[in-house]
Amino acid sequence: MLQDNFGRRFYYLRLSVTDVCNFRCNYCLPDGYQCDPSVERENSLSVAEVGTVVRAFATLGTEKIRLTGGEPSLRRDLVQLIEKVSSTDGIRRVAITTNGYKLPSCIDAWHSAGLDRLNVSIDSLDRAQFHRITGHDKLHKVLAGIDRALALGIDTKVNAVLLREHNLASLSQFMHWVRETPVSLRFIELMRTGDNRDFFASNHVAGADIERHLLAEGWELVPRERDAGPAREYAHRDYAGRIGLITPYSKDFCKSCNRLRMSAQGKMHLCLFASAGIDLREAIRSGDHELVAAQVRSALSGKQASHLLESGYTGATRNLAMLGG
Ligand code: SAM
Ligand code: SF4
Repeated sequence: MLQDNFGRRFYYLRLSVTDVCNFRCNYCLPDGYQCDPSVERENSLSVAEVGTVVRAFATLGTEKIRLTGGEPSLRRDLVQLIEKVSSTDGIRRVAITTNGYKLPSCIDAWHSAGLDRLNVSIDSLDRAQFHRITGHDKLHKVLAGIDRALALGIDTKVNAVLLREHNLASLSQFMHWVRETPVSLRFIELMRTGDNRDFFASNHVAGADIERHLLAEGWELVPRERDAGPAREYAHRDYAGRIGLITPYSKDFCKSCNRLRMSAQGKMHLCLFASAGIDLREAIRSGDHELVAAQVRSALSGKQASHLLESGYTGATRNLAMLGG
């Protein structure tokens, strides 16, 4: 089992399969995806390379893989990627994080390929506000996709980034939705990245304020699974859905870190806000999963106790599309 110098264990890999995205979320890629000449699009890990990475991590005890991006559904071979991951010995859960615009046409095929967990980003349930935040008038499509995922029995979570100037006043709409809809809705505290400093200053909302409100309204904390994400999840007997809070600025957030990250170009990131990724591409390209596993194990000794986000240090992360959040 992978364990770092602070006794944290890593059951969970977030694997980016592309850094390209078609949305223009105002906190992430406000000007849309800009091609970075140093990161060639076609340079993303192939299906075979993803197979090598996942096999390496599975031999180290990883049980859950999340495919992310950029927008992972922009990969034409996404079904093959899901099949490759889900057929790897030792992998018990295959998840994806998506902006959801392709859900109605693709979720059946992803599910047949082995996907069993879905995270969809919806920062507003108001059509016009969703359009303003993401640059796309696609809320109806995303919601139709979620209905289909639920009908297929897929464990579905919805991510909403808390934005003071955009969706904070509409939180009651989310609460109303969760009363009847059996999803886990997770409010994420906006994180400062290299590109969004001014936006962060005017939009950051502390998750602790929301948490106090939930407790006062009778919501109760649910115990966390060992491969779960960083959300603290709350349930309420009058609600079909749950509410989760992801508060990266809270004290001790990093103590429960259980995930590692791999960029679409094969760089391992020990933290979302690390100063650099560790390039494993050569080993990955060789197809030798034992070599990759050895490099992962040795790289892990460099994992720090905590990010330094609260002091404004955002490492090499210009935006979260680079690494998948
Ligand atoms: N494109 C996919 C999506 O939006 O779900 C996957 C990649 S996106 C980078 C992953 C998650 O990170 C999304 O839920 C998104 O809302 C969140 N995210 C992006 N930038 C963020 C930021 N600065 N602070 C907090 N969450 C952020
Ligand atoms: Fe794209 Fe996701 Fe970033 Fe929005 S949050 S711009 S959908 S990568």
